[in-house]
Amino acid sequence: MIYIHIPFCHRKCTYCAFYSMGTQDEALRLSYIDALITEMHMRRGELGQPPRTVYLGGGTPSMLGVEGLRRIVVALRECFDTRMVEEATVECNPEDIDAGFMAGLASLGFFNRVSIGVQSLNDDTLRLLGRRHTAAQAADAVRVATQAGFSNISVDFMYGLPGGRMELPDPAMLYAVKHVSAYALTVEPRTALAVQVERGTVILPSDDEVAVQYHAMRQCLKDAGFEQYEVSNFCRNGFQSLHNSRYWTRTPYLGLGAAAHSFSGDKRRWNVSNVKRYIDCVSNRMPFYEEELLTDNDAFNETLMTALRTARGLPADAIPYKHRAMVNKKMASYIACGWITVNGGHYSPTAEGLLHADGMAADLFV
Ligand code: SF4
Repeated sequence: MIYIHIPFCHRKCTYCAFYSMGTQDEALRLSYIDALITEMHMRRGELGQPPRTVYLGGGTPSMLGVEGLRRIVVALRECFDTRMVEEATVECNPEDIDAGFMAGLASLGFFNRVSIGVQSLNDDTLRLLGRRHTAAQAADAVRVATQAGFSNISVDFMYGLPGGRMELPDPAMLYAVKHVSAYALTVEPRTALAVQVERGTVILPSDDEVAVQYHAMRQCLKDAGFEQYEVSNFCRNGFQSLHNSRYWTRTPYLGLGAAAHSFSGDKRRWNVSNVKRYIDCVSNRMPFYEEELLTDNDAFNETLMTALRTARGLPADAIPYKHRAMVNKKMASYIACGWITVNGGHYSPTAEGLLHADGMAADLFV
């Protein structure tokens, strides 16, 4: 698996805590692509086997335009055996998508999945969140991507939005896509939204209201033919995100670019979260990352954190012998309150349990 981080956005959304910078600096973007390609060459031997999935995330990868993306694809093909890639995703924002961009993307012959950041279909909400697109542009983006031949389209939506309005995806848009990621809006420290909430200029719904909206979103997606396979992820039959699903089973991956994380099986490594330092260090062959060796307990905690967010749940045989008594006892209490069921050798969260996945994992940490 390969993840590539593109840390540029047209401007920062109010709620965003991802590592990305709002910039129109074309020269910086070009230098960043150069550094990314250098990193690919430096680390081409690190993945023990040919990648099966590639994911370009951000930030806003579509900001690089077709030419920027073409350079990345050419370098990927040079550095890795990409013949085994089953799924190659690129994140795009609606404002970057038009027929020319999509035709260019299709002409690269590499990406077979497009993930579009729709977030909301209400123009007032989009403005409040600092998004640059309108609801009409989002609908157009899905239509144009479909017309360009992309049949595997994912869209991101949010709930728990300011003002407490419940916003559900439009049936016509759902009909056109294979996958939906639906996230509760959360207030992250040091974001513009955190300041607005602190000052009382933006009021967010209570946890109970967010829980009601989560269930309404689930039901809406279920009615439209989507199956929930993770807290925030829903797909039509067979269209799970292979890339994300493999993170949840702790498959090793190579993360390239500023702030990208890599995982080798027993080590996690993270690149410097600063575009200019990243470019500088990579170009001058100076260290640009830190890493840590994971203990057995770290590995189990990570398994808990990801597995309990999936509908399949935690395989009972993944629980180390020395922790079984503690985990089984706590699971018995979750079963009693209807958050967990036992299913084919797994402790599987119920729909209600998925809402409490992070809390259960924290409670079970070793
Ligand atoms: S477009 Fe995405 S990555 Fe960029 S600022 Fe907005 S939420 Fe963050």
